[in-house]
Amino acid sequence: MAPTATPSVADVTVVGAGLIGLAAALALADQGLDVLLAATSHPGEASPAGAGMLAPSVEDSHSPPGADPGRQFALASLERYPGFLDSLAARTGITVPLNRRGIFRVALDETGARDLRQHRGPRAQWLSPDAVRKIEPGLVSTAGAMFYPADGAADNVALLHALDVAIERSPRIHRMRNDVRAIAVGAARATCTLAGSGDTISSSHIVLAAGAWTTLIGGLPRAIPVEPYRGQMLSVAATGAAVLGHVVYGPDSYIVPRGDRILIGSTMERAGFDPVTTDVGLAGVRARAAAYWPIAATAPTISAWAGLRPVTPDLLPILGRDPDYPELIYACGHSRNGILMAPLTGDCVAALVTGAASPASLGAFGIERFAGGARRGASSAAPS
Ligand SMILES: Cc1cc2nc3c(=O)[nH]c(=O)nc-3n(C[C@H](O)[C@H](O)[C@H](O)COP(=O)(O)OP(=O)(O)OC[C@H]3O[C@@H](n4cnc5c(N)ncnc54)[C@H](O)[C@@H]3O)c2cc1C
Repeated sequence: MAPTATPSVADVTVVGAGLIGLAAALALADQGLDVLLAATSHPGEASPAGAGMLAPSVEDSHSPPGADPGRQFALASLERYPGFLDSLAARTGITVPLNRRGIFRVALDETGARDLRQHRGPRAQWLSPDAVRKIEPGLVSTAGAMFYPADGAADNVALLHALDVAIERSPRIHRMRNDVRAIAVGAARATCTLAGSGDTISSSHIVLAAGAWTTLIGGLPRAIPVEPYRGQMLSVAATGAAVLGHVVYGPDSYIVPRGDRILIGSTMERAGFDPVTTDVGLAGVRARAAAYWPIAATAPTISAWAGLRPVTPDLLPILGRDPDYPELIYACGHSRNGILMAPLTGDCVAALVTGAASPASLGAFGIERFAGGARRGASSAAPS
């Protein structure tokens, strides 16, 4: 069969094929748009490296209910998850495991317990140390735990696979195994220049979804304050004493059941684009988890890895149109919650492109909230 020629024109070019780019591409195609999805793979991509926790209550339980726009968005995306996964299963036959059993946030002493009780949030339930041990016998030395019944986890590796298959099957999405070297906006059509070949793609919109690498793309009209923060994790076998039904957060760590494994994470390090594990990093991850789940100290490692979170200064995503170049849409900087926020981000990107009402308020996520988002001079220059 003759190879399909790469189209050079599309309605939308999506730059990046992590969970954010894939969810956006699929949502755009579902609106009847022709999408070019451009990305190679990069060591340390966040989407396969993440723990898959869907934990809006835990992440933001220090904010008063209703006060934090990130939390509202995260809660809405959590609610979107079952329908999102059902739709993927219907298209692909792949069932992505979704754990909605709730999340424990354990306290290790009375001060921690008081703090958790003061910031419990809606629907959270305080459990005594005995009650915690009854439900999860492997958890010891806790001073009790807050239980968040609506939170949980999704298998982000299975989710990536399901999205890949759905995209392969979509007649409206053309996947290119090329990176984008530079973009140009400000003319009648936006253009992306591909790395390697130097070919250009012209489209009415560009969606920037290249995670921590977004800042490295040429021709951006303004600085994007997204920085890679390395997270190191490891997995152990879920056997014997190392069994667990719920996601558990400790003060500086978490443990996540996933099939026949338990994931233990994670570090949050400024280490540039260097997605390696270190002995010190992994030992710290184990030690912090062992404070409440002792088996973490000795269970043999099955695998260990590191990924690069795309982190913004306020840990909120950058999601919205460029103020000067509305054809350019930012969908990056999802920091610690990009797996949780992917389904709703995809819906919002599609609404931004089609001009439909946004399914969520994006007021807090604009690039203009950062002083460094000031416009650069040569935004409409030809890509270099
Ligand atoms: C250890 C760890 C644990 C985490 N745990 C959780 C969790 O429990 N829950 C949660 O919600 N989130 C978690 N996260 C965060 C979450 O993984 C990220 O927020 C999310 O995956 C970001 O997705 P992304 O698509 O923006 O970026 P990525 O997944 O990094 O994807 C970026 C994409 O851009 C592509 N790219 C790069 N350069 C170019 C270019 N020039 N042209 C085209 N494409 C390019 C890459 O190849 C890749 O396809 C965790 C992250 C880490 C590292």
